[in-house]
Amino acid sequence: MNMDVTLEENDGVRFKTWEMDSQSRPPVNWTSDIIVTMCGWCNRVAAADSEGARKSWLAIEEAINHMQLMEGDNAPNLTHGICPECKSNFLKSIPSDKRLRF
Ligand SMILES: [Zn+2]
Repeated sequence: MNMDVTLEENDGVRFKTWEMDSQSRPPVNWTSDIIVTMCGWCNRVAAADSEGARKSWLAIEEAINHMQLMEGDNAPNLTHGICPECKSNFLKSIPSDKRLRF
């Protein structure tokens, strides 16, 4: 990919991109029923044991190996959440009189 950026009159900016090369790749199957939860604050992944019970939050590299996420034919789906540590830190950052009670 190549890109030219040109300043235009009236403070405008023009971006022009063009493909320099391309390669064919085998298609990726995105129909996996595996859903992996990643913390939206620290990017750690909720790792599950062999029965699917959540055990701990791991760095993405550890989780890929631990859960063998890239070894199947289907790429796992990704969703975001918040790990207990980040939730605790987040709640501490909110003044107690501003917290909602559920
Ligand atoms: Zn976190």
